[in-house]
Amino acid sequence: MRERLPITHEHYYAGLGEWIENRICPSANGGVAVFQRYVTDRKRAEEELRRSEANLADAQRLSHTGSWSWNVASDQLLWSAEHFRIIGVDPETVRPSYPSALQWIHPDDRPRVQEAFDRLVRDKSDFEVECRIVRPDGTVRHIRSLARPVFNDRGDLVEYVGTIIDTTERKRAEERLRESEQRFRLLAETIPHHVWTYLPDGSMGYWNQRLIDYTALTSEELRRGGWAAVHPADVPRVEAAWRQAWSERTPYEVEQRLRGPDGHYRRFLSRAVPVLDDQGELVQWFGTNTDVEDRHQAEEALQKAHSELAHVTRVTAMGELAGSLAHALNQPLAAIVTNGGSCLRFLDRDAPDLENALEAVRCIMQDAERAGEVIAGTRAFLKKSTGERTLLDINALIHEVLVVLQTEIRRHAVAVRDVLATDLPAVLGRRIEIQQVVLNLVMNGIEAMAAATDRRRDLVVSSACQKFDGDLIVLVAVTDSGIGLGEGDPDRLFDAFYTTKPDGLGMGLSISRSVIEAHGGRLWATPDVGGGATFQFTLPAHSGPSP
Ligand code: ADP
Repeated sequence: MRERLPITHEHYYAGLGEWIENRICPSANGGVAVFQRYVTDRKRAEEELRRSEANLADAQRLSHTGSWSWNVASDQLLWSAEHFRIIGVDPETVRPSYPSALQWIHPDDRPRVQEAFDRLVRDKSDFEVECRIVRPDGTVRHIRSLARPVFNDRGDLVEYVGTIIDTTERKRAEERLRESEQRFRLLAETIPHHVWTYLPDGSMGYWNQRLIDYTALTSEELRRGGWAAVHPADVPRVEAAWRQAWSERTPYEVEQRLRGPDGHYRRFLSRAVPVLDDQGELVQWFGTNTDVEDRHQAEEALQKAHSELAHVTRVTAMGELAGSLAHALNQPLAAIVTNGGSCLRFLDRDAPDLENALEAVRCIMQDAERAGEVIAGTRAFLKKSTGERTLLDINALIHEVLVVLQTEIRRHAVAVRDVLATDLPAVLGRRIEIQQVVLNLVMNGIEAMAAATDRRRDLVVSSACQKFDGDLIVLVAVTDSGIGLGEGDPDRLFDAFYTTKPDGLGMGLSISRSVIEAHGGRLWATPDVGGGATFQFTLPAHSGPSP
C-alpha cells in the first residue's frame, strides 16, 4: 500500500554529524518533491528535554519529592510519578483533582490543610504545610508540601505549582533522636554523678543540674570549664592530665578536689572519653565526676582501724615475748652467777686454782654473750619503724624473727631450718608490719605443732625469688608439721576473728593478709600432704639495689 504524502523522515548522518529532515510532498506534476533541512538543534533540544525530565524523575524518586501543578483555568491537577508513589495510588486508575485529593489527607489534619489551601487560593501567597496522609492500604506517612502561585507576564494567575516530600523516615529519625536525647537527659539528671560534655573549642557544652547544685557556679563559669571549683593545688596536675588526654584523644581519668556549696572540698574521680565522628574528628568529650570522698574516708578509717588492731596484736605478742625474754635471760644470768661464785671460790684458796677459775670466767663470758645476743635480737626486732616504706632485706628480717622467738622454739622442742635464697632482691615495705607477718606465721606454726604430740616438730622457713607475670617477686614460705588445716576452704582461716585456740584472737592471719595485700603481694595457705601446713606470701621485688 502506498503511503499518503507528505511523509517526513528524520535521519542522522554520522559522516556529517547532523540530523536531516526529509519531507516528501506531492509535486504539481503528479510526482513527488523532496525537501531537506537540518534539524540537529531541535533534536538536541528534544534530547536535552528528555534527559532533564528523566533526571527530574530520578531526583524526585531519590529524594522522595513529588511535584504537582494546578492549572486554574482548566482546573487540571497534574501529579508527577513520584507524587503518585508517595500517595500510594496508581497513575493509571486515579485522576487527581482538587478537592478530591484531600481524601488522602489524614482526617485529623484535613481541616488544617484545607484552610492552608484556601488561603493559598484566596491570598495567592506561598503555601507550606506538614501533615499525615493515609494511603489506600491504610499506612500513614508524613509529608511536607510547599506551593506557590505562578503568574504570567501580565500578572495574571496561571497556575499553582508545588512539591510534596515524604518526611516519614526523617520524622521517625527525629523521633528516635528525641527519645534517645530524652533518655540521655533523664539518665544524666538522675544518676548520682556530675555529667558534662566538652566541645572541641574547649568550652563546656552540657552539664547536669547536679553539677550546678554542687559547684554553685554560674553558667558562664561552667561554660569556661568550671575551673573555679577545682582546688587551686590540684589545678596544675588536672590541667596537665587534661591537656595530655586532649592532645592524644585518649580516655581521661584524674582525681581532683572540687569545692562544694559550703566552701568545703570533696574528692571526685573525673573521667572522660573523646567522641569522634566517622572521619575521626572530635565531636565532643563526654565526662563524669564521681564523688569518692566517702569511699576514701571509709578506706582511711578502715586502714586506721587495721593499724590500731595490728598495734593491739603486736602489743599482745610483745607481752608474750616479754615472758619468754625473761625466761631466755634468766638462764644465762643464773649460770653467770653460779660460775662467778665458783670462780671466786677457785681464787679464794691459798693456792688459787687458776685453771678452773679461767674456765669459769670463759663460761661467764659465753653466757654473757648469749644474753647479749638475746637482747640484741630483741632490740633489732623492736627497732623503731617510722611507718615509712623502706628497702628491706627479707632474709635478715626472717633471722631477726627467729632469734627473738628462740626461746619459744626451744621450749616447744621445734627443729627450725631456714632455706634462704642467696641474692634475694630487696622489697619495699614497712618493716614492722612485715616482721609481724613473719612472726605470726612462725608462731602459728609452733602452736600448730605444739598441739600434735605424735610427730617430729619441724618448721622450715624459706625465701625465694621468682618471676611472676614477667615481674620479680620474693616468696616467703613457712611450713610446719603440725595439725594441718582440717576440712574446708583454707581461706576461712583468714577471716577476721576465726580462731580454734581457746585464748586466740583470730586476727593474726586476717591482719597479715591485709598487710601483705597493701604491699602489693598475696598471702595464702596450703595443706601439706603429710600433715602440717604451708603459709606463704609474695612481695614485689624492688628493682633498685639491695639495702
Ligand atoms: P589466732 O592465732 O589468734 O587463732 P590467726 O588468725 O593467726 O589467729 O589464726 C586463725 C586460725 O587459723 C587459728 O586459730 C588456727 O585454727 C588456724 N591456723 C593458723 N595457722 C595455722 C597452722 N600453721 N596450722 C594449722 N592451723 C593454723
